[in-house]
Formats: sequence, C-alpha cells, structure tokens
Amino acid sequence: MQKKEAKFVVVTGGVLSGLGKGLFISSLGKLLQSKGYKTIPIKIDPYINIDAGTMNPTEHGEVFVLDDGSEVDMDLGNYERFLDLTLTSDSNITTGKIYRKVIEKERRGDYLGKTVQLIPHISEELQQQFKDIAEKNYAEIVLIEIGGTVGDIENQIFLESVRELSLDRDVFFVHCTLVPVIGVVGEQKTKPAQQSVKMLREMGIVPDMIFCRSERYLDDKIAEKISRFCGVDKECIISGPDLKNIYEIPLVLEKQQVAEKILSKLGMYPKMDNLEYWKEFVEKMGDTNKKIKIAVTGKYTSLKDAYASIQEAFNHCCGNLGCSIEIKWIETTDIEEGKIKPEEALKDVDGILVPGGFGSRGAEGKIECIKYARENNLPFLGLCFGFQLAVVEYARSLCSLNMANSTEIDPETNHPVIDILQEQKEIYNKGGTMRLGRYVAKLKPDSIVQSLYGTDVAFERHRHRYEVNSNYISLLEENGIIFSGKSPDGKLMEFLELPNNYFFVATQAHPEFTSRPLKPSPLFLGFVKACLSRPSPKNF
Ligand code: GLN
Repeated sequence: MQKKEAKFVVVTGGVLSGLGKGLFISSLGKLLQSKGYKTIPIKIDPYINIDAGTMNPTEHGEVFVLDDGSEVDMDLGNYERFLDLTLTSDSNITTGKIYRKVIEKERRGDYLGKTVQLIPHISEELQQQFKDIAEKNYAEIVLIEIGGTVGDIENQIFLESVRELSLDRDVFFVHCTLVPVIGVVGEQKTKPAQQSVKMLREMGIVPDMIFCRSERYLDDKIAEKISRFCGVDKECIISGPDLKNIYEIPLVLEKQQVAEKILSKLGMYPKMDNLEYWKEFVEKMGDTNKKIKIAVTGKYTSLKDAYASIQEAFNHCCGNLGCSIEIKWIETTDIEEGKIKPEEALKDVDGILVPGGFGSRGAEGKIECIKYARENNLPFLGLCFGFQLAVVEYARSLCSLNMANSTEIDPETNHPVIDILQEQKEIYNKGGTMRLGRYVAKLKPDSIVQSLYGTDVAFERHRHRYEVNSNYISLLEENGIIFSGKSPDGKLMEFLELPNNYFFVATQAHPEFTSRPLKPSPLFLGFVKACLSRPSPKNF
C-alpha cells in the first residue's frame, strides 16, 4: 500500500438515502486537513441531468453555485464550508456528464473501431477523471462520495469504477449505513447494516470501515455484532449519533480517531494536529444567551434543504457573534391570499430575509413583507429575487409607479423595473444558461456595503436571468434608492441600500454560497448584528 500517487477514500451508502454521507466526507476532510493533508472531494450523482441546475429544490434540495458558474449538488456546499476550499465543477460528476463525455469522444473518433461500452469505457473514463482531479489539485487524498444507495441500478457503474480503481491505487472504503432503534426498549438493530454490506460485497467491494448512523452511540455489543457479521475490524465500526449541530461531526469522529485509523491503513500518519479553532467555533455557536428570531420568506419553506446555505450562513454568524438564531419560515402565498397579514406574520421577529426565488407564486406576498420591513424599520436583507422585489416595492411605493413589476412575474407590466438581462434574450435552453458564478461589483464609497466588506469591491456568486432595468435607474436613485454596488461597467445593479433605514440592504448576488464557518459572509454578519441591536421601532 505504499505509492506516491494520491490515495482515495470512497464513501458508499446503504439502506436509505439522506444518511449524511456528504457530511461524513466533509467532516473527515476537515480532520485530514487538520492532520496536514491536502484533500479534494468529489460527489457522484447518479442522475442523468448534466447538473443540478434544472432540478426542483423541493425534491433535491438547494442548487449550489460555484465560482466557476457550475450549478451543483448541495453537498458541495458542505464540502466548501467545512474544508474552506473553492471547488470547481470537476468535483461534481453526474451520469449525464460522464456519458456526454464518452459520447463526445466516440463521435470524435477516439475509440475508432471499438464497441463503446459501459465497461470498460465509462468505468475507465471515471477512473481517469478521479486521477486527473487529484493531480490538478495536488491532492494527497481524494474523497469520493457515491450518491444513492447500494443496490440501486443507477449507481452500479460508479461502484464498479471504484472497485477497479482499488486494483491499482490505494483505496479505503467507508460504508455509511443505518442502525435503527426499534421497540419500547430502544434496541439498536443491525440487520439493515448487514444486508447493505452484503450487497456491497456482491459488487466486489469489502468495506474497511462502517459508519453507523443511529439515534445514539452504538452499544458495545452492537458494534461487536456488526464487526463480526460484516467482517470489519471492531475499531473501524464508527458511531454517527444524531447531533443538533453539524459542525460537531468532526469532533465526534475525532474522538473515535477516524482519521488516524484511515491514515494508518493507507500507510500514512498525522503530520500535525490543528482542530482547536474548530472546537472554539462549535462551542461559541452553542451560546444561547443572545437569541434572535429572523423571518425567512419563500415558497419552498416546506423543504428547508432548499435554503441550506442561508441557514448555514446564519450558523456561521452565531459561531462568530456568540448568539442563536431561530428562523421563522413564512409562506408568502398565505399573505398573498389574505390568510395572514404581514404585520401579524412579522410582529415577533427581529429581522427579515427575502431569499432567491423564481416565478410569480408568493411574489406579491414577499413584496408586502418588504414594504412592511421598509416602513417599520425592520432590518431587511434581500438576496437575488429579494433584491429585485425590493426594487419593485420601492418603485410602486415611492416612485409613483403603481403597477411596476418584474417581467418574470408580469410580462405585460407597464413599468418593467426588473427585466430580462440583455445577454439572456436570445437564449432558449434552460440548463446552465443563467448569469452564473462569481462576478465583481464596485462598491460605493461610504456606503453600508463598503463598510461591511471593508473593501472597494465585492466578489459574489450569481444565478439569475433578470436585472434592474437601466431605463429606471435614475428615477429610482432620484427617489432615494442607493445602488451601492454596480458591475465595473456601471451597467448592472448589484447592491442596494436605503440610507434612512436602520438596515435595509439587498444584493443581486447570493452571498450565502461563500459564507464559511470562520469567515461569515459580511452581508449576513452586518444583517445579524443589526437584528441583534436594532432600536425598538418606537424609538426610531
Ligand atoms: N428569478 C430571478 C431571476 O432569474 C431571481 C433568481 C434568483 O433568485 N436566484 O433573475
């Protein structure tokens, strides 16, 4: 097991999806980093979509956007946050992407004379990609997460590719499984784990470690049983108990010396130990002396995964400011339909965040909430769609454009203050065609955003088709909106603020994607500080 090239840790899943393989990889990566190793994560999604951009967040969770503009699985958000890395689209492989690559090669004639097949062509292409990613990133350890569950038809080729990889590279296999707690006595049951390991073995893969998700730590005799029946050393049967805070997972794994055990099997050893700062961050997050409640509006409020990065950005603020935030989810269709008034929905909150979104459902309700926030000096942060709707609200209320709207909501509006981006007009395909990825904005001297970022420019990630219509900018500015961040050519409005409000800031970008545990997004931090210290509305 002693070779110079990168080594690999592959995580597979058994029994059911959603067990937290992504968080396991993120946490393991953190530990390996803290021991001095350079790691790079890869997520394999077995669906045929080329990327996550065309999928519904209610079904699949948030669409995460990277600097390079790729729209990827939300697990990459956790990878970036835990590992403090900036990833590229290379780190998200899908069935669609890999097939497309092989089909393109076939059309080019790269396999001339051959019958192009799942094995070896797809499996070898996958292995090549794993090795290329390792090299490109100078990684010492590559972490590969195979999406889906062992036994699914659709992820078999991926399992086969890592099995083949293990024939010429050092690969450590971790199988993530469920140990349910059943019955009145709360017994931990091992059968699902046994059966999923059996299915993995049928694919030719013998796990080196089993990560057992359960309500609580494994009872000793249960760990013993799993070890015996699955043929895995008892010291490599790892407990993954339910935790309130995901950032505690690395600490729980560290207690069980997971990284040391993996390193030792790979013929490596810890080069250093540096997890103290993480422990401090986690401890500070638990400080619940200062509690605030923040409203978050949206139509996907039934599925909180759709807003994962926003929740994490808030958590990062908590870990830095030593406070706790309760999110009050507001379904704005209820406001729109008159079931509840904004003053009723927002009466007990310290601030309101209107996040990104698409389409007209719930939009009028969001506009009503923004109006309430502006008029009652409730701290407000608008992101992307939230920024656009703040412009619509301002145009209606303060620029005498009663019917102002975004053409996304009302294509026939007389006052299209938000309109489709020029560059989007000729595009008819949906996948990967929005204005995507990292762009720079020039910040206005002495503005709130300039003081929050502490620089004259801000780099943030984007995902949108619409923008502030340039024909209305001077009217909006004359009536008091400050566009405090613009694209370098001055054409695109990227940030806005209202100078007479306590905190009313919005951005066309998605700052939630780049917030990191120890480097919270400046906009979120400013907003949360404002929520913590806002004067009572009566004193304003
Ligand atoms: N629907 C809006 C647009 O496409 C906003 C997008 C978003 O919030 N991500 O411009």
